[in-house]
Amino acid sequence: LVIVDHVDKHFGDLHVLNDINTVVNRGEVVVVIGPSGSGKSTLCRAINRLETIDSGTITIDGEKLPEEGAGLAKLRADVGMVFQSFNLFAHKTVLENVTLAPIRVKRMSRKDAEAKAMELLERVGVANQAKKMPAQLSGGQQQRVAIARSLAMNPKLILMDEPTSALDPEMINEVLDVMVGLAEQGMTMIVVTHEMGFARKAADRVLFMADGRIVEEATPAQFFDHPESDRAKDFLSKIL
Ligand code: ATP
Ligand code: MG
Repeated sequence: LVIVDHVDKHFGDLHVLNDINTVVNRGEVVVVIGPSGSGKSTLCRAINRLETIDSGTITIDGEKLPEEGAGLAKLRADVGMVFQSFNLFAHKTVLENVTLAPIRVKRMSRKDAEAKAMELLERVGVANQAKKMPAQLSGGQQQRVAIARSLAMNPKLILMDEPTSALDPEMINEVLDVMVGLAEQGMTMIVVTHEMGFARKAADRVLFMADGRIVEEATPAQFFDHPESDRAKDFLSKIL
């Protein structure tokens, strides 16, 4: 579904993505892990074309990422993104947050969009919050709304960049449970997270990044129990 081929990117002198190659098949869950500044967010943003790349190609479902224009809107519809900081529209209700894009981008009727939104809010366990404003919700609830919002577009792929790292500890599991559920239902996901429990339970593969490179690519069991590189061993000793 996603082919990342010889992708390079610099920020000035910094080689933030250094010859990145990977393939994510339909239904796969890939966890991206690595030290701060290793390029994890930049890779996610590049796959969603929120960030340009200097060279190489990224292909999603057989189509090379567009530079701009209509193709970009379609890409954004096909690729959901969930951020660390929820990024809900603060002045819209929970329900409106979920229906906005389907109505505007997919030209869905309000009635259909609301029915679908309620179904999704139900699925992530916050249907009873539909009429509230985001600020009235806990962080965990807001993040679950953000996941429902990305699902509302029927994406082929969901990218999540540290979706639980802004949450209080007691709210992390409620969001991880939703993520595990999505994974079990066959959603293709690329997730930047240091949550080992999620990686072990849900990931097909772990990509370990350091200094803009993919240093290791392995199953969670291989990676966590038998990391090969010193970089990975060092990193794991700090977070485990
Ligand atoms: P973290 O775990 O802290 O989120 P990360 O692996 O997601 O780190 P990135 O956000 O991808 O790392 O950043 C990689 C490097 O690129 C960092 O050194 C960062 O300072 C730099 N960087 C990121 N965005 C920009 C930008 N817009 N302009 C210049 N440098 C940037
Ligand atoms: Mg990051």
